[in-house]
Amino acid sequence: MMVLVTGATGYIGAHTCVELLAAGHDVVAVDNLANSKVQVLSRIRELTGRDVRFYEADILDGGQVDRIFGENAIDAVVHFAALKSVPESVAEPLRYYHNNVTGTLNLCARMARHGVRRIVFSSSATVYGASVTMPLTEDAPLAPVNPYGRTKEMIERILRDVYESDNAWSVALLRYFNPVGAHPSGRIGEDPNGVPGNLMPYITQVAVGKRQELVVFGDDFETDDGTGVRDYIHVVDLATGHLKALDRIAAGPGIHTYNLGTGTGYSVLEMVRAFERASGVSIPYRIGGRRPGDAAVSYCDPTKARTELAWTATRGIDEMCLDSWRWQSQNPRGYEAG
Ligand code: NAD
Ligand code: UDP
Repeated sequence: MMVLVTGATGYIGAHTCVELLAAGHDVVAVDNLANSKVQVLSRIRELTGRDVRFYEADILDGGQVDRIFGENAIDAVVHFAALKSVPESVAEPLRYYHNNVTGTLNLCARMARHGVRRIVFSSSATVYGASVTMPLTEDAPLAPVNPYGRTKEMIERILRDVYESDNAWSVALLRYFNPVGAHPSGRIGEDPNGVPGNLMPYITQVAVGKRQELVVFGDDFETDDGTGVRDYIHVVDLATGHLKALDRIAAGPGIHTYNLGTGTGYSVLEMVRAFERASGVSIPYRIGGRRPGDAAVSYCDPTKARTELAWTATRGIDEMCLDSWRWQSQNPRGYEAG
């Protein structure tokens, strides 16, 4: 297939491009570089021996998106492009709704115009909100608690309505749990701007001496050790999940929702210990207050993806930590060094 990947130079996008190219698909890539660096493209080439056709463009720009569809015979779209910081979305809701929701409306309108009706969408476990019933199945109630999560819920609804209006569409809504890790080569990985908001990049930056200590956000949750529990998933497993979802939507029209996670939860302190084991580096930490809105526990039931997509996450917590560490230690300044 010729696949248009939006947000292709981002963390998950880059890993998915590698897997798509390795599987023999052609990739047309679009990104406005709002949260990524163009250097990732040469790393993708280095890993796969193949080029993506890259457009530095904003999906909000209808003319540019039209041009991309006009110049390439796109079979399907994998749509990662979005802003993803929860605190930023609380501070700047209009920017988040505009970028994520309007960007998707614009993309889908152009897809329809060019007769492309297959889309894999990056949704998130945050659409579930702080549900009390674990593990989360796809039919758990949706209750996002911040604007970022609400953009994902809205886009899911929009895509459902689009499908209802025209049953020729073929849509996969993928709800990711907590992506961590990096390509085993150490050549591509997560390169966040500024202070990392997520646990794993914070830990790896402490490990390379970029940050002094980890602050654990609360140790008084109702969990075994009192710290928050999440379903961490290796980014390469996540990337292969997209290939399986593409196969599914290429098989025929419909709309399908899948959790992509391992189904196992680990606490913050378990992650710290696993990282120390994998890297041999000790991670100083102190216990701080809870982060507003944080759930105690979140992990999924991955059965639906296993049975319908024949996909399952195969990489465990040690591999996640080892690969995160390899990337961070070999690229202490991320892609900056070229
Ligand atoms: P990322 O920020 O690394 O990648 C997103 C990419 O989209 C960036 O390269 C950014 O420059 C680009 N982009 C943003 N707005 C754009 C626009 N208007 N036009 C063109 N490009 C634009 O994030 P990621 O971690 O790779 O996440 C990819 C997707 O997965 C996002 O939709 C995110 O919301 C979703 N997601 C991520 C996580 C996570 O923890 N990383 C969890 C659940 C869901
Ligand atoms: N966390 C932490 N310190 C940090 C970042 C995160 O203790 O600097 C905790 C957070 O409270 C949660 C877990 O690590 O329990 C995962 O947080 P992350 O932001 O990576 O994912 P999310 O909470 O969005 O699932």
